[in-house]
Amino acid sequence: MDQKLQLWFTELQTDDMALSCRVKKTLHQEETPFQSLAVLDTEQFGRMLVLDNVIQTTVRDEFVYHEMMAHVALNTHALPKKVLVIGGGDGGVVREVVKHRSVEKVVHCEIDGAVIEASRKYLPEISCALDDPRVDIVIDDGIKHVREHKKTYDVIIVDSTDPVGPAEGLFSASFYRSIYEALNEDGLFVAQTESPFFNRDLIPRLYKDISAVFPVTRLFLACVPTYPGGLWTFTMGSKRYDPLEVDIAGIPQMDTKYYSPAVHRSCFVLPPFVEELLVQG
Ligand code: SAM
Repeated sequence: MDQKLQLWFTELQTDDMALSCRVKKTLHQEETPFQSLAVLDTEQFGRMLVLDNVIQTTVRDEFVYHEMMAHVALNTHALPKKVLVIGGGDGGVVREVVKHRSVEKVVHCEIDGAVIEASRKYLPEISCALDDPRVDIVIDDGIKHVREHKKTYDVIIVDSTDPVGPAEGLFSASFYRSIYEALNEDGLFVAQTESPFFNRDLIPRLYKDISAVFPVTRLFLACVPTYPGGLWTFTMGSKRYDPLEVDIAGIPQMDTKYYSPAVHRSCFVLPPFVEELLVQG
């Protein structure tokens, strides 16, 4: 029998369910002023960013989440030039945003500079666009940043941790109103909005709050293996453009592994158990 020591990282994804991954090596661990941060090298998913014991991203499955956060929104806007990314300290969303030629400026507002530093060092394939000349990194609270910037952005992408601690306010009605005001007159935003299996109280509330502010509100889905339940929701609020009305034949060819023009359309097709979340609110 192989007696080699086996180390496992376990995330309690609900009070009654866990995901465990065998760890090859702990690459980094620190307590930042905001959260506990770790980068682990795992057998199944490769290098993994963990905040407060919750998996944020891994080098093997990150492409799904980052592509879907960026491209559905940017290909819905007719000419996105100025983009704000809130959170997303690993840099994955920024890497996807700068693939769009129309984008002139990306403001990346992350509350915890330590996440950016650790990602630069241990996750270079995810953080690789943070030095793009179009990217300005701002270490600040995203809630404060949107309050202080009116009519500034074409697209805002909220790549937050779960709705606890510093991210709690990123899931509030007042934050959605500030986002509306921070957007230009044809602006739109997208946020990660958690699991349709395990956040069945939260999603209807968010959808109702976003619909109260934005004339167009759409929820879409993607499959992220390391997030609880695998299936994940994203919600877009838009002042003018409807992602369902995009002429997908006009979407330019992109270097992506999950997002495609056909996925842009299909991700809005919701199974009934998800659809029903949108009428409960
Ligand atoms: N994709 C991930 C997920 O869904 O689990 C999120 C990844 S990203 C690392 C989340 C980032 O949001 C963290 O680095 C965290 O520091 C940042 N964050 C949390 N609250 C924030 C706030 N109020 N303003 C700006 N960034 C915030």
